[in-house]
Amino acid sequence: MLKIEKNKNIKAYTTLQLSARAEFFAILKSKEDLQEAIVWSKKNKKPLFILGGGSNVLISQTVKGLTLKNEIKGIKVVEKNKDYILVEAKSGELWGDFVDWSVRHNWHGLENLSLIYGTVGAAPMQNIGAYGVEIKDSFYHLHAIDLKSGQERIFSGPDCHFAYRESIFKNKLKGKYFIYAVTFKLQKMATLQLDYGAIRAHLLERGIKKPSLKNVSATIKIIRTEKLPNPVKMPNAGSFFKNLEISTIKFKALQKKYPDMPSWPISKTKVKIPAAWLIETAGFKGKKFGAVGMHKNQALVLINYRRASARQVLNLVKKIKQTVKKSFGLDLHEEVNII
Ligand SMILES: Cc1cc2nc3c(=O)[nH]c(=O)nc-3n(C[C@H](O)[C@H](O)[C@H](O)COP(=O)(O)OP(=O)(O)OC[C@H]3O[C@@H](n4cnc5c(N)ncnc54)[C@H](O)[C@@H]3O)c2cc1C
Repeated sequence: MLKIEKNKNIKAYTTLQLSARAEFFAILKSKEDLQEAIVWSKKNKKPLFILGGGSNVLISQTVKGLTLKNEIKGIKVVEKNKDYILVEAKSGELWGDFVDWSVRHNWHGLENLSLIYGTVGAAPMQNIGAYGVEIKDSFYHLHAIDLKSGQERIFSGPDCHFAYRESIFKNKLKGKYFIYAVTFKLQKMATLQLDYGAIRAHLLERGIKKPSLKNVSATIKIIRTEKLPNPVKMPNAGSFFKNLEISTIKFKALQKKYPDMPSWPISKTKVKIPAAWLIETAGFKGKKFGAVGMHKNQALVLINYRRASARQVLNLVKKIKQTVKKSFGLDLHEEVNII
């Protein structure tokens, strides 16, 4: 039976560690718990809010209704043949543990996504990505439950409308479904993706010329640990802003003023601009504003240095967005979900 608590402090359930409360709160351990929560929500006319690992949220006010912390676990192989394996992970599994599990089995597809925080269920929300790979690349389908009717529905890849840090669940269907389980198609043999970031250089530094899947995962963990602040020691929510996609024409005009502005092409007419470069050039990298600031090595990562309030964080976010707009005429967009 679902144990519902009232006025719960949920600070510890988010990696940004801002002071935050939920009007009502319960931990989900099964599909039945969720169905019970749906009945409760209807009866009490209160909304439901799903919380995974809390590594991509900024809770700026008391969360209305019932917050459900997802701890529904389980991993199972649903199909196996000589080429690939279909694996279903329940949404409350920790993403990092699930990747480690796939790497231990020597099954290809998720290794470049090692050591990303959060749960399996939140991964399709923003099509998580790192080191040249996104989950859409090995996604098969997902089972989701309608938070109003309790009906289950299967979403294929095209149904999810995956894009850069986007999916239908972050847009048109925001807050409407609970992602219950995600199935991935993992390959028995595949070419390792080593060209992104410093993966190849790190491997060579360690004398590894012909890396295994395990070598790649281990290397990415080393790089990420060196580069990214650990939220346990320095509370943060990863990249706060998304990289920008702008037209090639606009980029060429900007390049005249900023010849060293980095970019990479994403189509014939569009390029991507790293938001970190814009924030650094606007002077925010390593700068502290009272209890908050942008990390000294990673201009994209906003840090809660000491018991910051949501207001302080949002003020800094506003200041950065205004400065970038004034300097470059470009609009930054938050990657983090502001609740
Ligand atoms: C240090 C650090 C590094 C990071 N690096 C990366 C990176 O390299 N790449 C990347 O893409 N992200 C990265 N992130 C962001 C984050 O880890 C991912 O976005 C992750 O998928 C969030 O998972 P979560 O379970 O913590 O989601 P939460 O923060 O709990 O929730 C995020 C959103 O998803 C919704 N949600 C959660 N679970 C479900 C569900 N089962 N059904 C429906 N909706 C749900 C929530 O309501 C909320 O709107 C990083 C974060 C940190 C702190």
